[in-house]
Amino acid sequence: MATKVTRRTIDLAGLDVPLVEASGSEDGPLLTVVAGVHGCEYASMDGVRRWTRSLESRELRGRVRAVPVLNLPAFHGRTPFAVPDDGKNLNRCFPGDPAGTLADRLAYAVFTQLITGSDALIDAHCGDMVEALEPFAIYDAGPSEARAREMATAYGLPYVIRQEPGPDRAVGGTTSSSAAEIGIPAIIAESGECGLVQEEAVARHVRGLDGVLALLGIADRPEDAPEPSPTYLSRFTWMRSERGGWWAPTVRTGEQVREGQVIGTITTLDGSQVLETITAPADGVPIFITSSPAVADDGLLLGLGVV
Ligand SMILES: [Zn+2]
Repeated sequence: MATKVTRRTIDLAGLDVPLVEASGSEDGPLLTVVAGVHGCEYASMDGVRRWTRSLESRELRGRVRAVPVLNLPAFHGRTPFAVPDDGKNLNRCFPGDPAGTLADRLAYAVFTQLITGSDALIDAHCGDMVEALEPFAIYDAGPSEARAREMATAYGLPYVIRQEPGPDRAVGGTTSSSAAEIGIPAIIAESGECGLVQEEAVARHVRGLDGVLALLGIADRPEDAPEPSPTYLSRFTWMRSERGGWWAPTVRTGEQVREGQVIGTITTLDGSQVLETITAPADGVPIFITSSPAVADDGLLLGLGVV
């Protein structure tokens, strides 16, 4: 077999994390793939698991290293969003801190041991346990953004979002933003939702990973691969509640909404009173929506993509 695949664990901040490495008989770029930064995003983890198995039978020009399940404490504890040991969102902690709590140290280990030295990075996600989601890829502004945009497009998801540092940025401290800062083209690719392992969402990750592999020249493009034609979104606005209560969205992900349109309400837990009526701040598409009615004060409700 021309492609050598090895499976081992790697010590990341004291955790024995599974790692799959594949190297082709010819030289080429090194692509690093991570899933399970959030511990209950199973569709993306399963996509990476399936994809790495498929590499054994293919000719590669370059190398792949892939972590199918990164955030082991969150995976084993079925903890959405956070590292249970410190309550921090791992994907806000990059590039990490070797002297911090577990999330900081894990981010630091991933940044120094896996991201640094890569020619490209894919961080595969999906909607967590309580998130409905329309598939999208996000990349960050920076010196490598032209390549990152090509990678985001090649992943083949319906929406592509560009993020710039600054007050408008929805999220910072991510895998992809830390990679962008050191000139490594990187994307976060999201497909799947609500803690489910849906076949179509998993398959979309496998196709997306193949698409980027072909873009980088590491493998040939599968013959039946569709030509990607995403909608490019210029802004990603995350909307939050003022007060906690019972969240009831009135729109679905992927649905076109108009500025001023009511997109949901927050009512008292006894159902007798409307606390807040949420309206769209601009024309756009809800890319993800919190599917759980339980929201806290300043709770995340939805991410609106603005065309
Ligand atoms: Zn995630």
